[in-house]
This record gives sequence, C-alpha cells and structure tokens, in this order.
Amino acid sequence: PPRKLAAGNWKMNGTLASLAEVDALTRDCGTAGVEILICPPATLMRPMADCIGRGIIAVAVGGQDCHAKESGAHTGDISAEQLRDAGASYVIVGHSERRADHGETDEDVAAKAVAAHRAGIASVICLGETEAQRDANETLDVIARQLAGSVPDCATAANTVIAYEPVWAIGTGRTPTNDQIAEVHAAMREALVARFADGAGFRLLYGGSVKPANAAEIFAIAHVDGALVGGASLKAADFAPIVKAL
Ligand code: 13P
Repeated sequence: PPRKLAAGNWKMNGTLASLAEVDALTRDCGTAGVEILICPPATLMRPMADCIGRGIIAVAVGGQDCHAKESGAHTGDISAEQLRDAGASYVIVGHSERRADHGETDEDVAAKAVAAHRAGIASVICLGETEAQRDANETLDVIARQLAGSVPDCATAANTVIAYEPVWAIGTGRTPTNDQIAEVHAAMREALVARFADGAGFRLLYGGSVKPANAAEIFAIAHVDGALVGGASLKAADFAPIVKAL
C-alpha cells in the first residue's frame, strides 16, 4: 500500500516566528512512521528547510504553486526549479483558491504539474467540487473532468499525489460524510488505474476541515492515503495529533 502522507498547507500564513511550530512538531512526531510535508509561504521555504534539516525527523517542504516556465519575465511568479533550489521536494498545484483567485484552468494546472516533474519535484494536484456542483449531483463528473484535465500524462505514483478537497469543506468546519469521501476516492482510484500503469500506487489525500477530532475516522476510509490540512497545520498542537492518527 502507498506510504501515508500528512501534508500541511499554510496558505498565506506564517512568519519566521512560526518556525517554532515546526520545531515542536518534529519533537512531538519523532516516532510517527508517516511522511510529513509542510507547504509554507515562499518566504519561509528556505528557512524552514534549514530548520527541518537540523531536526530529528525528516519533514518535506513544498511550495503552494509554481509557474509553468523555468524562468523569465513573470513578475511575482516562482518556478518549480526555484522552489527546488529553495529546498522544496513537492509543490501544490491547482488548489481551489488558486483556481478561484487566479482563474487557473485544468490546462494551467496540468502545465504546472509538468513543470514540477521537469524540476524533479512531486506535484500535489488538487481537485474538488463546489457546493452548487454537489447540490446539482455533478460531483463525480467534476472530479472526473478535473482529474482528466489537471493530471498530466507524465504523472506517476512517485511524482504525483492527488488531493480531493471539496471547495465547500475548506475552512468551513464542514466535511462530507464518510460515504461521500469513499465514493469520490474510489472513483479517483478507478480513473487512475484505468489511465496509468501504476495508478494503484498514487497517494490520494482528503482535504477540507481535517481536525484532530475527525482525522482518525477519515483516515480509516478506503483509498484515503493521508490528508492535506490547512488551518489545523499551523499549530503543532493541532497538526501532531493528525499526523499520529495516520
Ligand atoms: P482547511 O483544513 O483549513 O479546511 O483547508 C484545507 C485546504 O484547503 C488545504 O489545502
């Protein structure tokens, strides 16, 4: 079975002082046999990678987005190669906040995932339906379309993680039922197995209001290989119990 992954997305939160949380997390999770990933804002990538390098357990650092190109006249953007140079081994692409705030399409997301793989880092590709789409019974169609369009042909179980994040569950304290999560994860697995020779090995994360109180229950669902955690990844006191629940 795929190795479990506990991933934290700090979004636009955190300053140098927040590195104390990473330090506390590594001390608290010393024996957890799972992979831990933290995606801080770009300003903290190098200091976090250095801080983790001095710690007692391996924690991967990742970006929250990348440009599709390697370099050039793209003010404010960061390439996958630059993320790698700053210590990243992963990058999140296609988060719903990027899709909504920056108009990113499935095609854009796939190009960013290709860029990550070109740079030698793994992509965490995010998919998820809006509340209106779920209410209209379109969830499985939306997920199938996003998975087909956002996951590039060069994806493998080694370089790609898929995160199912229902838009309406992000930052709201609401989560799908276990059956709803199971249904989407089974559909994603089926689509990956149909398309990729190693489709059974891709790690599938659930994201959206994962907390210490619901983590164990969510991790028990078939084809849930970990979580992509927002708010509850910011404090070691919240993230450590989630890591341990895996
Ligand atoms: P929350 O855990 O804060 O709901 O955010 C989830 C998310 O968007 C992670 O990428």
